[in-house]
Amino acid sequence: MSSFSTPAIVLRRIDFGDYDLIINFFTLNKGKISVIAKSAKKSVKRFSGVLEPFSVLEVVCSSGRGKGLPVLQEATLKQPFSKSRSDIVKIAYASYWAELINSWMEDGKKQVQIYELFQHVLGELDLDFTPMEALSIIFQIRFIKISGFCPDLTRCGNCRIEMEELKKEKIAFDVVKGCLICGSCSSAKSGKIYLSKGTIKQLLWVESGDLKKAGRIRFTSEALNEGLKFLEVFVPYHLGMEPRSLKFLRQIRSKRLSC
Ligand SMILES: [Zn+2]
Repeated sequence: MSSFSTPAIVLRRIDFGDYDLIINFFTLNKGKISVIAKSAKKSVKRFSGVLEPFSVLEVVCSSGRGKGLPVLQEATLKQPFSKSRSDIVKIAYASYWAELINSWMEDGKKQVQIYELFQHVLGELDLDFTPMEALSIIFQIRFIKISGFCPDLTRCGNCRIEMEELKKEKIAFDVVKGCLICGSCSSAKSGKIYLSKGTIKQLLWVESGDLKKAGRIRFTSEALNEGLKFLEVFVPYHLGMEPRSLKFLRQIRSKRLSC
């Protein structure tokens, strides 16, 4: 039987019968894969309890026979991100990012840039230097950029006038058309989200700048609010799904604010 090894992040774990687990991994070498972890449910010792969501592991799997799933043979913990797992808001953000990867990535298709992005934001989430809202902006905008559906935020999608030349401080983003729309081209019909020029500039910077430096950018509170609102509407709309984890994230955030 052939086997393979790869760095892997746990996206999700699903009970399978009385003893086993099916693990959805996002791997560096093979993209998104599902593997079966035999006896992982029956005995925590079997994999030393490392198969926790968002842990970064080095895994060894043997390829399944025929159409069977690969079988997890070994899993070694590289980064536990244990601080994140005791904070419900952090879990909510990481679950949302994992769901975007799980629903959007093709099985078995290598996606090195997205793997590195996911590992980076999970690491930063654990460190607490960068606000979670900023990390979620960084993850989402770079995710859509790498996936090829990032809107052009530099100009009006209709008449092509540059955002910098517009006099108004707030510029409309047309969610259905997926572009900025200036006052002269705007119609009342479709849903719009308003972004200030400052927010757009920060989003552009995070979209194309160096990933390590992106975490050091100090978002204004206006940019955090507008940027999150914009991405959490645009990304699900574009993917054609309402992630369950986003609903959960919104509930958790509103509870935290009302405390
Ligand atoms: Zn226009």
